[in-house]
Amino acid sequence: DGQTWHSVTVAPVGDGLYTITGVDITDQVLFERTRRDFVTNVSHELKTPAGAISLLAETLTDCADDADAVRHFSMRISQEAARMSELISKLIELQKTQTIVPDSSLVPIEVAPVVRQAVDDVSVLSERKSMIVSLNTACDVTARISPKDLRSVVKNLVENAVRYSDEGGRIGVTVDRCDGGARIRVVDNGIGIPAGEQKRIFERFYRVDRGRSRDTGGTGIGLAIVKNVVEEAGGSVTVWSQPGDGSTFTICLPPVETAGSGVTTDDDDG
Ligand code: ADP
Repeated sequence: DGQTWHSVTVAPVGDGLYTITGVDITDQVLFERTRRDFVTNVSHELKTPAGAISLLAETLTDCADDADAVRHFSMRISQEAARMSELISKLIELQKTQTIVPDSSLVPIEVAPVVRQAVDDVSVLSERKSMIVSLNTACDVTARISPKDLRSVVKNLVENAVRYSDEGGRIGVTVDRCDGGARIRVVDNGIGIPAGEQKRIFERFYRVDRGRSRDTGGTGIGLAIVKNVVEEAGGSVTVWSQPGDGSTFTICLPPVETAGSGVTTDDDDG
């Protein structure tokens, strides 16, 4: 909010005189505030399914003789547990992407095979909604990024494209070159994102429509992971979207300097 914070020390130097020292602690205050908000958000997000599980289990105990009710409440419990488990996995993924020191030991990789793996990771979800995912990848597009991280980024974007589109929707994933670097685009013809919300969707836990997002699953962390990873690699992520028409997420990764850099392809399935 543009405020600056100072820690002020007043020390007597004799004869009724004092020295006043002001140290700018804005960064520490903002860091502490972000940390506190994060812990509050995590606690809240975990408390909701935990509370639901506990209530549902109580209800289940009360209606143990009714087979239909037992089935219904057991299913609800397992849905809430799955939600909790998804949230915890995403938190671990987010934590892993919050490296402060850029990893200079990373070797350049071929982008297309990793993107293909990520699309494959989501195929169960897309097939369940009868969605067509078309993949268009140029060869020899390279980037200096961990293949695991890149896979996680693309997976998050394609998962969202599936989640926020109707049955039978179409998704396009392309890899090409842009300004000498790599460009990855994920295009959907789903529900879209209102202009006023487009900046905020990259914040941790931010969801455009919490009610709808709760029904469709999701944690509000996916795009925060995307932004962390991409910026860590020196790149950028942007969104274009029109409610009702769909969304396009574009990732640009900087060019790889060619001198002495052996390009590897990633065949690691992990
Ligand atoms: P979530 O787990 O809720 O999907 P994300 O951080 O991945 O969390 O996304 C944040 C929010 O941005 C989502 O809740 C959704 O409202 C919106 N969003 C993300 N991707 C899309 C998309 N492809 N189409 C429409 N809305 C999207």
